[in-house]
Amino acid sequence: MPEADDLTALAGVGPKMAERLANLGLHQVRDLLFHLPLRYEDRTRLRAIGELLPGAPAQVEGRVDHAAIVRGRRSMLVVSISDGTGRLTLRFFHFTARQKQQFATGATVRCYGEARGGFQGLEMVHPTYSLLREGQSKPLADRLTSIYPSTEGIGQSTWTRLTDQALAQLAEGKLALQELLPENAMTGQRPMSLESALNYIHRPPPDADVAALVERRHPAQQRLAIEELLAHHLAMRLLNRRKRAHDAPRLDQDGELERQFLAALPFEPTRAQARVCEEIRADLAGRHPMLRLVHGDVGSGKTVVAALAALRAIVNGYQVAVMAPTELLAEQHLRVFGDWLRPLGIEPAWLSGKVTGKARASVLEAIAAGAPLVVGTHALMQDGVEYARLGLVIVDEQHRFGVHQRMALMRKGEAGALRPHQLIMTATPIPRTLAMTAYAGMEVSVIDELPPGRTPVTTAVLSAERRGEIIRRVAAACESGRQAYWVCTLIEESDAVQAQAAEAVALELRDALGGLRVGLVHGRKKAADKQARMLAFKAGEIDLLVATTVIEVGVDVPNATLMIIENAERLGLSQLHQLRGRVGRGAKQSSCVLIYDPPLGDLARQRLDIMRESTDGFRIAEKDLELRGPGDVLGTRQTGMLQFRVADLGRDAGLLNTVQEIADGLLDNHPHQVNGLVRRWVGDATEFAGV
Ligand code: ADP
Ligand code: MG
Repeated sequence: MPEADDLTALAGVGPKMAERLANLGLHQVRDLLFHLPLRYEDRTRLRAIGELLPGAPAQVEGRVDHAAIVRGRRSMLVVSISDGTGRLTLRFFHFTARQKQQFATGATVRCYGEARGGFQGLEMVHPTYSLLREGQSKPLADRLTSIYPSTEGIGQSTWTRLTDQALAQLAEGKLALQELLPENAMTGQRPMSLESALNYIHRPPPDADVAALVERRHPAQQRLAIEELLAHHLAMRLLNRRKRAHDAPRLDQDGELERQFLAALPFEPTRAQARVCEEIRADLAGRHPMLRLVHGDVGSGKTVVAALAALRAIVNGYQVAVMAPTELLAEQHLRVFGDWLRPLGIEPAWLSGKVTGKARASVLEAIAAGAPLVVGTHALMQDGVEYARLGLVIVDEQHRFGVHQRMALMRKGEAGALRPHQLIMTATPIPRTLAMTAYAGMEVSVIDELPPGRTPVTTAVLSAERRGEIIRRVAAACESGRQAYWVCTLIEESDAVQAQAAEAVALELRDALGGLRVGLVHGRKKAADKQARMLAFKAGEIDLLVATTVIEVGVDVPNATLMIIENAERLGLSQLHQLRGRVGRGAKQSSCVLIYDPPLGDLARQRLDIMRESTDGFRIAEKDLELRGPGDVLGTRQTGMLQFRVADLGRDAGLLNTVQEIADGLLDNHPHQVNGLVRRWVGDATEFAGV
C-alpha cells in the first residue's frame, strides 16, 4: 500500500510516471510543492490584436483569414488571423499537414505568444493555440497559468493536475510542512507563511503583480529564495565542516624535483602563479585538509600551478589524483603532466570510464600499490578505486561538478585516518555572489594575470546570412598557415544529433574549402579517435577543426587563431568565453566570429555585444548573471552554474549576507532545522553532515 505521502497515491501517477518524477528528484507528494513554476502566462484576458505590443506576451482570439505553407530554405506554415482591430501573422516552422487543415478559413483560433515586428506587420512565432468550434465559447483562465520545468513525457497539463492534488492535500492538512526559517529571517519583508507562499507561487490570483512574479521579486518568491539559498549554503558548510574536522597528511617537505621542474619549464611563472603556489604550499603543510579553489581566466596558466602542487605531494610520498570533467580534457592533462613529469621519473597512470577489462584491473592494481600520479575523469572517484596513500585531489573545471560530485570526492580517501587535500581549479569566472553560495567556506586563490605576450582576441558578431563570407575568411586564414576552429552548437538534442549536425557541417566545409584539411571531433567519437584528431590539429596536420562544444575546455593549440561559433545566441556567455579562450593563446592576433541566426532579440543582441566589447571573464560573468532572464535555465545549465528553483544569484545577491547570518545562527543552535532545510531543497542531509 502506498503511504499518504507517496507519489503513487496520486491520481495519474503509475510506476512509469513515478519513475519520471523520481528522475527529477521528486519522490514524495511534498516534493511536488517545491517543484516551482518556471514562469507564468496570463491567459485570464484577451488582448485586441490592434493593441498588441511587440515583445509583450499576450493572448488574442481571431478569425483565420488565410493559411498556407510557404516553401523556402525552411518551409513554414503561415496563418493570417484578424479580430476587427487588426491583423496578426502566426508562423510555424514545425508543423503537420493536419495542423494546416485545422486552420480552415473562418475558424476561430485563440493563441498565446509574444508578438514581434515581422515583414507583414506583427507576428507570433510558434504561439500555443487552440481552435474554437463554431459558436463555442471557452472560459478564460481564472488564475495565471503556471509553466513548470519539465522533462520528456510530462506535459504541462500533467504538472497542473499533480500540483493541484499536492496543494489540495496541503490545504486539507494532510501534509505537515514545518516552518524552518527562524522568525528574524524575514526582517524588512512582508512576513508570509510557507503555506501561503507556496499557494501563491503555484496558483497566483489574476490580480497578482505579474511583473514581480515573472522577475521572481514577489515577496512569496523571496520568502522561498532565502530558504533555498540558505539550504545550499548550509549544505556546503556542512560538507566543509565535515572535511575540516579531520587530519590531513602534512606535506611540508620541499624537494629537488620541484627545482628541476621549474628549471625545465620554457617560461617563468607569472607573479600571480607564484603567489597562488605559495598559498597552496602553506595549506598543504597544515594539519587539516586544504580546500582551495583556484580561479583563473582561460589561459592564465592553472596547469603549472596544479603540477607544482602535485609535485609537492609526490615529494612527500603521497599519491595525487588529477580529475577533469570530460575525457578530452583529462587526456590533455595526461599528456601535459606526462611531458612535464616523465623527465623527473614520474609516469602518470590513466583511468576513465572507458578503461575496462584487463587495462582497468592493472590500473586499479597500480593505484592500490601507490602509483604517485593518476589522471582521469570522475571514474577516479568511483567505488572500487582504492588508493594506497591519497594525499591530494586536483579537480579541474569544477564548475561542471555539482555538490553531489563534491560529496563523492570527499568520501574518497576517508578510509584511513588522514583525509586528502583538495585543490579545485576553475576557468569559469565566478562572481562573488556565486562563490559565496556554491563555494561557501572554501579558500579562494585568484590568478589575476595572463602570461606575457598575449594579444587580446577581437570578436565580430555576424548574421548567418553572411556564412559564405565567413567561410572565405576561414579559407584565407588557413591558406596563410593559421588554423581555425568551427564550433557547431545544438542544444537540447542528444549527443547523437549533435554529432550528425557536426558531421554535416564538416562535409559542407570540406566541399567549400577544397584544398584544406578539415578534421572533426564530437562527443560520439572514440576517445582514441578524438585524441588522434586533436593531436593532428596540434601538430598542424589539420587546418580546420570542426567540433561540437566538446572542445570547450582546456584545449591548447597556440597556432589556432580563428574561432567560428555557430548559433552563438544559444550559448551562455561564460561558455562562449570559454570557447573563445581556445584562440589567442599565442602572440599572433586572433579573432572570433560569433554567428547568429536572425532575427536577434534585444536581450540576445546585448549579450553578444558584451562578448564583442569585453575579453574580461569576470565582467562577462557578472553581465551574464545580470542579463540572464528569469527562468533561463538553458543559460544556467550551459554555464554549469548551480541551478536554483526560485533563487537567482544575480538578482538575489542582496539576500546573501542575510543568508550567511541566518546560517551561522542555525548551525550553532538548531542542527535539526539545518537538516530539514537541506533535505527540503538539496537532498539527503545526512549525507552532507555524515561523519
Ligand atoms: P588554463 O589556465 O586555461 O588551464 P593553461 O594552464 O592551459 O591555462 O596555460 C595556457 C598556456 O599558457 C599553456 O600553453 C601554458 O604552457 C602557457 N603558460 C602558462 N604559464 C605561463 C607563463 N608564466 N608564461 C608563459 N606561458 C605560460
Ligand atoms: Mg586548463
